[in-house]
Amino acid sequence: MCAAKLVVLGSINVDHILNVQQFPQPGETVRGDSYQVAFGGKGANQAVAAGRSGADITFIACVGDDDIGANVKKQLQQDNIKTECIDTIEGETTGVALIYVNQQGENVIGINAGANAHLTIERLTCYQQKIMDADAVLMQLESPIDTVQLAAEIAQKNQTKVILNPAPAQSLPDSLLALVDIITPNETEAEHLTGIAVNDNQGAQAAAEVLHKKGIAKVMITLGSRGVWFSEKGCQGKIIPCFRVKAVDTIAAGDTFNGAYVTALLEGKADEEAIIFAHAAAAIAVTRSGAQPSVPWRNEIDQFLI
Ligand code: ADP
Repeated sequence: MCAAKLVVLGSINVDHILNVQQFPQPGETVRGDSYQVAFGGKGANQAVAAGRSGADITFIACVGDDDIGANVKKQLQQDNIKTECIDTIEGETTGVALIYVNQQGENVIGINAGANAHLTIERLTCYQQKIMDADAVLMQLESPIDTVQLAAEIAQKNQTKVILNPAPAQSLPDSLLALVDIITPNETEAEHLTGIAVNDNQGAQAAAEVLHKKGIAKVMITLGSRGVWFSEKGCQGKIIPCFRVKAVDTIAAGDTFNGAYVTALLEGKADEEAIIFAHAAAAIAVTRSGAQPSVPWRNEIDQFLI
């Protein structure tokens, strides 16, 4: 296991996935072709990717006082994650995502934040020492935004690197972006943050420049099967291509990329090498179905890279 310490702060959901021919219209009932329940949530997916790829990781999150919450916590421990900062919220349900997937592979998702909404700044204050002692904190946007902001402030004051995966897409205050060291939007999220469409290399570089001007040193825009646009402040950006594989489903591709990237970063790998490590982890994930079930372990990533 890596000696450097990582904190992931974020969401835990249970995903209910129903595959249908077509999405139901208002008032319509449709039959599903297959149904799957799997653990998800961007925070948990990224924590699992970091844990399985070898990071020393503590996860700050909340679950409900239902059976799912207890089961998720047990599963996360088996995924090499320290769970002492996962609070169980009395009288609340664990976060839920209801996901329809149609024949074209498109999805529509409804989310109930449940316990995730209880990850407040007061609760974070109890765990701030973990962030102060860590080498990096990795966050997403499925948690209350003022909690994400406070965690970034604590991190910055204590030389803890802030990595933000700004998903799901939304615009963010400059006060938060100014605290971020590395940001990892996909194309849609980059457009939300900058107002610039990322359709080609020029668009990617222009969006990255906007984010650099807001104070972010490194911008990595994930481009699906094309890889990543990597840009460091003051340098010309470039594409770092990913691996060609036969994709089965790309659920949690970005989450796997983020968790594995931070593991590699904390092991001292240089940017490009860390991105290639993360590409390998994400490539394995897209060849398998589901969110957390698809996330690879370290030996699988090392094997893939030989
Ligand atoms: P998100 O899931 O956040 O939208 P992306 O779709 O941009 O993220 O993908 C994140 C990373 O996952 C990519 O940079 C790449 O490493 C990997 N990836 C995604 N789709 C594929 C694919 N079809 N083949 C191989 N790797 C992929």
